[in-house]
Amino acid sequence: MIEVYLGLGSNLDNPFSQIQQAIQSIALHPEIKIESVSSFYTNPPMGPNDQPDYLNAVMKIVTEMPALELLDFLKIIEKKQNRKKKIKWGPRTIDLDILLYGKLEINLPNLIVPHEGLTQRAFVVWPLLEIAPNLRLPNKIWLKEIAQKLDCHVLTKIK
Ligand code: ADP
Ligand code: MG
Repeated sequence: MIEVYLGLGSNLDNPFSQIQQAIQSIALHPEIKIESVSSFYTNPPMGPNDQPDYLNAVMKIVTEMPALELLDFLKIIEKKQNRKKKIKWGPRTIDLDILLYGKLEINLPNLIVPHEGLTQRAFVVWPLLEIAPNLRLPNKIWLKEIAQKLDCHVLTKIK
């Protein structure tokens, strides 16, 4: 089984229920087992700031699904939840990212793992640390060390 970490984000149409709905869809996949889900965190928008705050969470799953198949599945959920492609970093009902896929490094045109933004984004690193305090990235750097360099005060933890 491969240990995979996913990132979830939303800032439109009731973000809380958008994220819960996505978790529900993931839970129903016969080839995926959810191991843990982080708290939900509110977080000011990246990019254009005339948009609502984001709600972010991360989850750990185990699966044998190939990474591209998993990506396709996540895109189906995004589509089902009415995500429309508009502006880069613009508002969205749901954003589902593969943060880590075991210890693999993947560099394909449509899939880069570890996710490119992972190490710069407090809203990914801090929730990850909550569910995986002893995680090491494929490049052997400890997640804790990355977290220490990122300001967590922009995040508000929701129950
Ligand atoms: P972001 O998640 O950076 O806000 P988008 O969700 O709009 O950006 O980007 C979507 C595209 O990014 C997808 O079509 C997908 O093919 C590509 N992509 C590359 N690496 C990943 C990854 N690790 N997880 C999810 N999508 C990825
Ligand atoms: Mg995305």
